[in-house]
Amino acid sequence: MFHQRRLRKIEEQREKLDEMERKNRQLRTLIEINTYIANSLEKEEVLKRILNQTKILLNCESSSILLVDRGLKQLNFSVLSKDEEGDILKDTSLRMGEGIAGTVWQNGIPILINDAQNDPRFSDRADKKAKTVTRSIIAVPLTVNGEIIGVIEAINKIHGGFTIFDMQVLQFVSTQSAIAINNASLYNNAIRDGMTKLYISKYFRERLQEEWNRSSRKGHTLSVVIFDIDNFKGINDTYGHQAGDRVIKEVANVLLRNCRNIDIPCRYGGEEYTVILPETGRDEATAFAERIRSMVEGVRLEYEDITMRFTLSGGIATIPDLDAKDPSSLIEMADMALYYSKKNGRNRISFYNQNVMGASPRS
Ligand code: GH3
Ligand code: MG
Ligand code: MG
Repeated sequence: MFHQRRLRKIEEQREKLDEMERKNRQLRTLIEINTYIANSLEKEEVLKRILNQTKILLNCESSSILLVDRGLKQLNFSVLSKDEEGDILKDTSLRMGEGIAGTVWQNGIPILINDAQNDPRFSDRADKKAKTVTRSIIAVPLTVNGEIIGVIEAINKIHGGFTIFDMQVLQFVSTQSAIAINNASLYNNAIRDGMTKLYISKYFRERLQEEWNRSSRKGHTLSVVIFDIDNFKGINDTYGHQAGDRVIKEVANVLLRNCRNIDIPCRYGGEEYTVILPETGRDEATAFAERIRSMVEGVRLEYEDITMRFTLSGGIATIPDLDAKDPSSLIEMADMALYYSKKNGRNRISFYNQNVMGASPRS
């Protein structure tokens, strides 16, 4: 008898210890989530990390964030903890009131279900597409400044079902995610030009210094291109300032559509653009700039009842091909090459050449 009582007591103590350890782990994960938020400004990156931590925290198979597209009035799968599902569900969206996430979006109230397949609110559209089966799910709203901007979900508890405590944890994660999204969008607005959505020149200078350091450290090539629209004053004078703005935006769109993820396209000034091309040598940079030049030459921009055509000139400088002493002198070289293009008939691209385009900026 005595022996059994002791055994039961030991068992109880062990369970308590396990429970404390689990809570401890959860607390550590919550603290980690906070650290990610404080240290990252890339929205996708921070959200992905939050979702991975959520999976560990709630001991579930997957988690995802759906964001509201107000224009299209739909909820899009935006970030998923599993990359392969992210690719499959990239173009999937839910209407307001559709499925669990759509219901949370509509009502703003969290939902916890441990028997999803038999719940009338559940929609198996995403499951069918991703070839998964949702058994249990928690979905909570993602709210920024009182407005529901999305829904965060945890799917399939590994052992047993989700608890109310799990839901409270997910609500905490959701508050943290909302702060991250808000910070990322404030940051994104601050580093981009409102009219063209290209990066502003201050950001360009900061990033060029970073890329310069990286390329010096690793011995990579690095190119800078400067473009300037030809005879732009004529466009403003002939068609008006608003037509000029449309042209500036159109050239920006050509750049945005043709840059790789690692390239950094910027609005340098009024109708001047710079692009940082990391790990790009002289020939590739020239091919890129030529492609942009020729695409812009091919644009026919309808504005009111006229069709506008325009061209641009460009200048390129690359390290280590050129002996630039710092990022400013690299920009100066690209600028001299641009000036050379202007002097030699416009609608052309030139690579900096010290003999032809003047003394090196260092002398
Ligand atoms: P070039 O071929 O030598 O470059 O001739 P250009 O006429 O284009 O000369 P420049 O590059 O010096 O002209 C820049 C003009 O762009 C001057 C300015 O009035 C106009 N501009 C600058 N910012 C804006 C803008 O945001 N919108 C509009 N519409 N015009 C702008
Ligand atoms: Mg100019
Ligand atoms: Mg110009």
